[in-house]
Amino acid sequence: MATAETVLKPDFESKRRHFIFNDEHEQLRESIRSFAQKELAPHAEEWEETTFPDWVFHRMGELGFLGLSYPEEYGGQGGDYYANIVLAEEIGHANSGGLAMGVAVHTDMATPPIYMFGTEEQKQRYLVPSIKGELISCLGITEPDAGSDVAGIRTHGVRDNGEWVINGSKTYITNGHRANYIVLVTKTDPDAGYDGFTLFLVDMDLPGVVREKKLEKLGMHASDTALLAFNDVRVPDDAILGEVGKGFYHIMWELQGERLIGAAGCVAGAQRAFDRTLQYALERKAFGREIGHFQVIRHKFADMATKIESARQLVYSTAWRFQNGEYPVREISMAKLYAARIAVEVADECIQIHGGAGYMKEYGIERAWRDMRLNRIGAGTDVRFSTTSTRTTAR
Ligand SMILES: Cc1cc2nc3c(=O)[nH]c(=O)nc-3n(C[C@H](O)[C@H](O)[C@H](O)COP(=O)(O)OP(=O)(O)OC[C@H]3O[C@@H](n4cnc5c(N)ncnc54)[C@H](O)[C@@H]3O)c2cc1C
Repeated sequence: MATAETVLKPDFESKRRHFIFNDEHEQLRESIRSFAQKELAPHAEEWEETTFPDWVFHRMGELGFLGLSYPEEYGGQGGDYYANIVLAEEIGHANSGGLAMGVAVHTDMATPPIYMFGTEEQKQRYLVPSIKGELISCLGITEPDAGSDVAGIRTHGVRDNGEWVINGSKTYITNGHRANYIVLVTKTDPDAGYDGFTLFLVDMDLPGVVREKKLEKLGMHASDTALLAFNDVRVPDDAILGEVGKGFYHIMWELQGERLIGAAGCVAGAQRAFDRTLQYALERKAFGREIGHFQVIRHKFADMATKIESARQLVYSTAWRFQNGEYPVREISMAKLYAARIAVEVADECIQIHGGAGYMKEYGIERAWRDMRLNRIGAGTDVRFSTTSTRTTAR
């Protein structure tokens, strides 16, 4: 029975589990974390130089981590959407933003449209081996001349002799160098407005597919990022994913899951930067005391913790809506916007609290900032960096 003493005495050791998670999620959390810490994190530094190897996909497929919420009939684990949130949160323990992104593109960006819109044959041919980690996927929306403005893409598919001929280019494509296939957004009827887009599943070894360039970037160094060209690539009708003319709507649906998973990753990344910085602040001394005991630094931690928790609650409550059948586009956009922004703010503040050490590679906090910075751009940019006024662009 609750007594005044037990109610009033806070239990800081108690397990704080949000109501969306149950014991199975917690076991999954433990096993992904342990895998990430033991099998991935020891290589994190090396993979910053080389990009992470393909065996990561094979191993994750073997462990069942690539199909957590897909049905068992396709080799998935039959879990719910929260299992994907757990993956997004725990894979961060690999200490490699680039790896987390490469995996998320596969599990939560490229394969969901196959499950949602694909034919049974496409599911058997692409989804099943992707869940096993035998095929690696990428997603092609962005082009050199169109990013936020998805409807402005130029890559097009034209019917010719019972086939489709695809021409165009895609850029900033994560996994683009290693992928076996791409979920490709094209225009198939330039006069039909939003009803003129079609998705294709294109094998990356087809004649005319060119992996033009490995792009170098500010952060996420462990991921590969490609500029791709499609020169008269011929595919059959079977390669159409979903409905001809409905590709724009299909890809807008895809972006919802992508954004929510990205938001969950941001919250987890911000939390890790926070935890690491708190530990540092309790060890580093200046003027005779630990810097974490200066009141101004304590205010910073309180402020960061509040932002992280607000973002987390927004992500979890939106995930609950998503899991329960709603299509909460507005809340997903808010969660993505807010989580990305606070993650960058937190990472920046963590560098500041580290002082010069924050600028040094060996502490890893500068990498957290560089990696995190992408989240204000990928899957839809925000246009202002201010705590009072930030908006997302149309995408
Ligand atoms: C590392 C990395 C990995 C990526 N991976 C992928 C991938 O796997 N697949 C994929 O398809 N794409 C990928 N992207 C692309 C990413 O989604 C785009 O970069 C993003 O959507 C922004 O598009 P853009 O770069 O063309 O910017 P632009 O659209 O050119 O925007 C430039 C600036 O203009 C602003 N702006 C645009 N429209 C408006 C408006 N209406 N009002 C006010 N301001 C506006 C933007 O906010 C931004 O500040 C990746 C990008 C990066 C950097």
